[in-house]
This record gives sequence, C-alpha cells and structure tokens, in this order.
Amino acid sequence: MSDRILTKHWGEPDSYTLAGYERIGGYKTAPEAFKRTPDDIVAEVTKGNLRGRGGAGFSTGMKWSFVRKEKATPKYLVINADEGEPGTFKDRYVLELDPHRFIEGCIIGAYALDCHAVYVYCRGEFEPGPITRLKAAITEARARGYLGPSVFGTGYAIEMHVHRGAGAYICGEETALLESLEGKKGFPRLKPPFPANAGLFGKPTAVNNVETLANIPTILQMGGDAYHALGCPKNGGTRLFCMSGHLVKPGVVEAPMGATFRELIYDRCGGIPGGKKLKAIIPGGSSSAVLSADQVDLKSDFDTLKGAKTMAGSGGVIVLDETVDMAWALYNVTKFYAHESCGQCTPCREGTGWAARLLKKLVDGRGEKGDVDLIYNIARQGEQRTICALFDGAAMPLKSYIEKFRADFDSKVKA
Ligand code: SF4
Repeated sequence: MSDRILTKHWGEPDSYTLAGYERIGGYKTAPEAFKRTPDDIVAEVTKGNLRGRGGAGFSTGMKWSFVRKEKATPKYLVINADEGEPGTFKDRYVLELDPHRFIEGCIIGAYALDCHAVYVYCRGEFEPGPITRLKAAITEARARGYLGPSVFGTGYAIEMHVHRGAGAYICGEETALLESLEGKKGFPRLKPPFPANAGLFGKPTAVNNVETLANIPTILQMGGDAYHALGCPKNGGTRLFCMSGHLVKPGVVEAPMGATFRELIYDRCGGIPGGKKLKAIIPGGSSSAVLSADQVDLKSDFDTLKGAKTMAGSGGVIVLDETVDMAWALYNVTKFYAHESCGQCTPCREGTGWAARLLKKLVDGRGEKGDVDLIYNIARQGEQRTICALFDGAAMPLKSYIEKFRADFDSKVKA
C-alpha cells in the first residue's frame, strides 16, 4: 500500500471541493460509521494506534474514551488548528487542499464522542486561504445534508463552527485555546482537571489536531490493525513531516510513522544543498531538543524520540547544515519563547527573557565567563515548575543546544 494517505490527492485541481472528494470515495465512510456503535469506533481508532499529531502524541482512542466515560453533557469536539509551533506548516495544507476529508473525520469523531458541536480554532493568519476553503467546504457539506440537524438522514445533529484566533502562540496550548474560545484572555489553565473531564464551558471536551481527524476515515476504511501496520509499534499510520531548513527540496512530506531522519532528509528531500555536511536536526518543532548529525538514523516516532530525550512533537523537522552557529540559532528560538510567554509563571516570564538577553550578549561578542552555565541553569531550574509546557518547550532547546554544541557557545566568551 502506498504510504500516501493524506496527500494522495493534493495535486488535483479540485481536491478541495465536495465533488473532488466524492470522486475519490469521500463521504462513504461516515454513513457506514453511523451503523456502528460509538464504542466500536473508539475501539477501532484505539487499535489503529493513532497518536495525536499536534505535539503530545497521546493516543486519540484513549482520549476519546476518557470523554465518553464522563456523564456530563453536552460534550464538545474542539479542533486545534492554531499550528503556531515554528517549523510546522502541515495542517494549513490539510484544510486548504483536502478540507472534506477533515470534515468527514470530524463527523465520525463527533458521533463517537456523543457530541453535536465541533469548534475549529484556527490561527488568524489562516484567512484567506485555509479558513476560506474550510468555510466553503462546511457550507457545501451542510447544503448536502452531511452536516446540520440530521447528518446523512440519521437524525443525528452535528454543527461545525470556525473560530479565528488572534495570533498568540500560547493559544495552541489546549487549555489556553479553550479560554480563548470562551472569549477570555488565552491563559493556560492549571491541570487537572483535564479537558476530557472539564473542558470547553466546563464540559467534557476532546481537543484534537487537524491531521489527527483527517486520518479517521482511513482508519475506519482499512481497519485499525491495517492502519497500525503502516507505521511502527504503538505509532500507527503515516505522518505529515514539515521539512524545512537546509534541504534541496523542502516541503510537506508524508511518510510512515517511524521513518528515519536519514530517509526524510536524503531520500525524500534530496539532502543538503551544496554538498554541505549535516550539523543538527530539530526533530519536532522548535521546542524539541536538538539532535546532532550522528543521530540521523534515529526513527522519527513518538517513543523513539522520547527515548532520545527529545520529542516528535508537531512533525516540524528543521535541518541545519555545518554553517549554522548554534548560539545564534538558540538565540532566535529563545527570543520567540520570551515574546510568546503569557506571563503567568515567574520562571517562564522572567527566565525566557533573561536567557534571551544572555544569548544576545553572546552572539554580539560580549559574553563573559559563567554566562553559558547561567543560561543552562535558568533552563534547568525552571523545568516542570510552570502551569503549562511553554517553559519546558523553551528549556529543552536551551539545555540540548548547549549540551551538544558547547564549543559554539564557549567560543563567544571573552577570555
Ligand atoms: Fe504562561 Fe509560560 Fe506559565 Fe505557560 S509556562 S502559563 S506560557 S507563563
């Protein structure tokens, strides 16, 4: 079987229309799903080992089962289409080039969760473009009776609502997203309770990523076991890798879960321009710990990368060649997190800015003895002491860049 599922029809001129999607068999899976029980669907998705494609890599089936166990109603399905992690640019293409596949996944997901309202929280910059296409697709689906008061004539009501964010990175954190959706400032919530127990408007909520939902029709078509077999153990299916940086052919690449970075970089993206040497790989968006060139044969799945003390994250793979100064790269990454910290927690509010200022001092050639260790300690001492993972996402690069490329930092300290 081809390892292209989500991208298979991206090249077709009408891939984003209802007619284009139906021509390739679209909207045939959801009506069949309504003949099964919601528990059966959740079990199939769990069997498929579909891990959340937004960053955390949590089992989608398990998350849905948590929501199902809750007695409170109504229940909500919220889609995180904020896609703010630097180096990540795949969900926008799912929405722009194949929105009906995503909508069909949402219909099946809503039925499985016993919910009737789906909210898609998109980053504001997605309009025009992905949001425009998504809204048009929802209108088409509603006109055909695939959404609305009686989906496919089943009597089951599902409405989809599109909400535009205002561009804050923190609103990609699921609880900040829910706050924003409720009309409040996008501040992350203390957990527990988790959204599955008390999410949107305090009700049980599944927060899932766009790519995750787009995989649902395929899982039901081929069955959970066959879908799982496309990937690697406990990591089912294929994944959209956002390949950027020093590559001959950067772009979105669909490959089996667990493809090695060597396969992604050299086989899929044509290697590094100018015959330059690989220096580093950021494996899962800018908040993941960096890998060195000798780790290029690592598999890209969630469990392998966790074992390597980094993460598969959002699938944003940034490739850096031998010309890159890692202190400069880390300064850029840290400046971003300092800017995007919501300010609720002292280690994050003060620590990210402090580390960014010290890194600026280094790249400007003003580094002093002790600065590099101080940057490292700011990261180490703030870890896991904050409300949300933004600080940990800043700390992972801070620690790993220094651990793996210390010479790039020490060379900037005045003797
Ligand atoms: Fe806000 Fe940072 Fe605390 Fe997250 S870790 S809640 S972004 S201050």
